[in-house]
Amino acid sequence: MNITPAPRTSRLEKAGHWLRRHYMVICKVQWVVLFAYAILILIPPFMPLPDDAAHIWSNFTVFAQFVFWGIWWPFVLLSIVLLGRVWCGVLCPEGALSEFVSKYGLGHAIPRWMRWGGWRFIAFGLTTIYGQMISVYQYPKAVLLVLGGSTIAAIVTGLLYGQKKRVWCKYLCPVNGVFALLARLAPLHYRVDEYAWRFSYMQVERDNHVTPVNCAPLIPLRNMKGASACHMCSRCSGHRGAISLQWRSPAQEIVELGEKGANCWDTALILYGLLGIANGAFHWSVSPLFVSVKQLLAEYLIDHDIFWPLETNAPWFIFTHYPKQNDVFSWLDGSLVIGYIVTTGLLYGTILLACVACSNLLLGRWSALRLHHLTQALIPIAGVSVFLGLSATTVSLLRADHLLLLVDLIKKLWFVFLAIANIASLYLAIKIVMRYIRCISAGILRGIGALLCFILALAIADSAWWLMLSRWA
Ligand code: SF4
Repeated sequence: MNITPAPRTSRLEKAGHWLRRHYMVICKVQWVVLFAYAILILIPPFMPLPDDAAHIWSNFTVFAQFVFWGIWWPFVLLSIVLLGRVWCGVLCPEGALSEFVSKYGLGHAIPRWMRWGGWRFIAFGLTTIYGQMISVYQYPKAVLLVLGGSTIAAIVTGLLYGQKKRVWCKYLCPVNGVFALLARLAPLHYRVDEYAWRFSYMQVERDNHVTPVNCAPLIPLRNMKGASACHMCSRCSGHRGAISLQWRSPAQEIVELGEKGANCWDTALILYGLLGIANGAFHWSVSPLFVSVKQLLAEYLIDHDIFWPLETNAPWFIFTHYPKQNDVFSWLDGSLVIGYIVTTGLLYGTILLACVACSNLLLGRWSALRLHHLTQALIPIAGVSVFLGLSATTVSLLRADHLLLLVDLIKKLWFVFLAIANIASLYLAIKIVMRYIRCISAGILRGIGALLCFILALAIADSAWWLMLSRWA
């Protein structure tokens, strides 16, 4: 039995409790989303590929492409910043399926290899690169392979590990790390009142028992701090009269809890993943550097009678292969795509890391935790970077349909989003630096120096979009 929450319950708390009481509604919504998801990824691969005359409103494949990459994914990212991981807990078809099948699965204990913290970075990096190798934004078969493959992996994980849990979501989902970072900015969270929790033990003695909560992403509820891991499913709302949906400052989790929750894999994901590999994936198709290197290498290979890298016999699930669409990667093209993305990731990641490391050093003796904490101030610009990259697909689809007014509007919004992200990142950095100045008496000049290094990091992150929107547009 859940203990009745305090009498003066805010509207937000009531909303959380309402969701808990109507959990069956959430389950039904999940099945509707699963149905829509299945239609969008299963039907287009069995239809002919669209020709140049196909439009969003006249061809289901183009429509699915627009809905999936142009609307669905950018707005999933936005929803996480605004509402926390409601997408994961309430709407995600993979999570719902994984949890559903785990009721009937083998229920094995989670193996140690799966608990490794690096999967969130590796899974994101590999999925991003593989998606570009097979042109996942353009071709339905590639979508089915990447997203369908991920869904099957989620189901298999659910069948093998955990009971009524989301082991896949917590440890292996390729976007888990990104969502966990973005959720730190959410103004909503389920807050645990430690006093009320302790107090509830006295009531428990009187009332005899408390109904346990099934937290599918395996969060130890009593010690939950922040919204990063929480899927906002609302099942724990009102539990022991101590957990409730609350407003908070979007800066709170990063500034106040950032040091405790910081780890090297989050830092790698922000610097090398979101601001590195993802930028490379969005860049290569418009980069003049990519074309120049490709021409140089092709000439070198021809001059030296080495022809096999120029052959286009790789199957579509290794490198893009759609001859009728005139879109075929040679082994050289595919290798260069991988090389370009990895090099961009390493270059941007390392330069950004150097800036944040200087910032860290200026604040006093080297501290890895402080470095990870400072890096978290880049989450807003990293999140917006991925949002803009995904919405670039929206723009190209709208442009192909001659909806130029919408294209102009979205491009203007890009600058607004970039400006907001820069201000938010700088604000977080100022708050974090101020904490350390107070803690270690680092001095105001050191603090200003640390912030200048951080501003340099912001300028470097922005340069990726300056190249995309101004130089290579
Ligand atoms: S802590 Fe767990 S049960 Fe509570 S809302 Fe978050 S995911 Fe759901």
